Amino acid sequence: MPESAPIYLDYHATTPVDERVVAAMLPFFTERFGNAASRQHAFGWEASKAVERARKQVAALVDARPAEVVFTSGATEANNLALFGVMRAAADRRHLVTLTSEHRSVLDPASALETEGFAVTRVPVRADGLVDLDVLARALGPETALVSVMTANNEVGVLQPLDAIAGLAHDRGILVHSDAAQAAGKVPAGSTFPADLISLSGHKIYGPKGVGALVVRRRTPRIGLAPLLHGGGHEQGLRPGTLDVPAIVGFGAAADLCFRELDLEVPRLLDLRTRLVEALAGLPGRHVHGSLDRRLANNLNVGFDGIHGDQLLLGLTDVAVSSGAACASATARPSHVLKALGVPDDLARASIRIGLGRWTTEAEVDRAAERIRGVVTELRARRAAG
Ligand code: PMP
Repeated sequence: MPESAPIYLDYHATTPVDERVVAAMLPFFTERFGNAASRQHAFGWEASKAVERARKQVAALVDARPAEVVFTSGATEANNLALFGVMRAAADRRHLVTLTSEHRSVLDPASALETEGFAVTRVPVRADGLVDLDVLARALGPETALVSVMTANNEVGVLQPLDAIAGLAHDRGILVHSDAAQAAGKVPAGSTFPADLISLSGHKIYGPKGVGALVVRRRTPRIGLAPLLHGGGHEQGLRPGTLDVPAIVGFGAAADLCFRELDLEVPRLLDLRTRLVEALAGLPGRHVHGSLDRRLANNLNVGFDGIHGDQLLLGLTDVAVSSGAACASATARPSHVLKALGVPDDLARASIRIGLGRWTTEAEVDRAAERIRGVVTELRARRAAG
């Protein structure tokens, strides 16, 4: 890559589709174009077989059974289906518990549920981004139907203690939903996914955009879930509509690659992240947001005293990082996640989220760190002079 090419370090926003995934998808646009719901001919059987293979590959990523995977248009839809689906189906319990640092696709459905008459508690997180289990336990009551806590945060990468959360909830007969869009395929092999409902997204794992899944565990008694859409029996009646076979095949292939390459990729990313942290360590007035111990290997979120946030991103034209979630970047407000961690507004605005990924190299990390150091130092000098 030439020195001047911009460096992509925004892998939490989205990832390029792996060439191997593209190759797996291509035949399903043309010669293998069948409708997976066509039961009466080979074109349909072939498409259906490909979908079932992808279902298996996606299930393996979160240690689920294939029959537990419901394909959706992405994690946003999966989160909506989980929250509206469980709350509307739970006749006697009308309380939802979630965290202040969740993704908008959980927080906004939670607010919408309030307008439908449900009660919602948004539990705060600590300065390290993690939820205090005692505080969470106190929020749970006999009315609580569902606890929704993300596996890994999309801005600060912290990994919530899902095993303990599921323990607390299950003891009280409460279901657990977890948005694992950023965690699936990125946490070490053997990590557990104890939630009853799990949201996944294709484009965060080197698959295509517009496809994802809600994993609905087969529990006894069966988890009650009211569909958002009506119009056919697809996906066990939970998500009607003709399946996007190429996208689903791509999602499956992407999940499979992550699953098989996890053992090498997680330590590689961790080494790169450590290199980045060390390269920025000499910069005074530098704050790493969120726990570094319980965190995705590919994430760093760091803020700098004494500079204006918008100037920082403007100065970093050749390094693609972001000031927060891509979905929120249209607003000038400081990140709600950093606010939830108690970060002051000025520092939150002067903070960047760095997401490393499959094609990130040591040379890119070094060059990005050098650019960040240079821009921060220059902005501070200009401020001091001006
Ligand atoms: N949840 C999290 C944690 C995310 O990071 C994202 C993507 N920004 C989503 C949900 C939404 O995923 P999708 O784009 O597949 O709807």
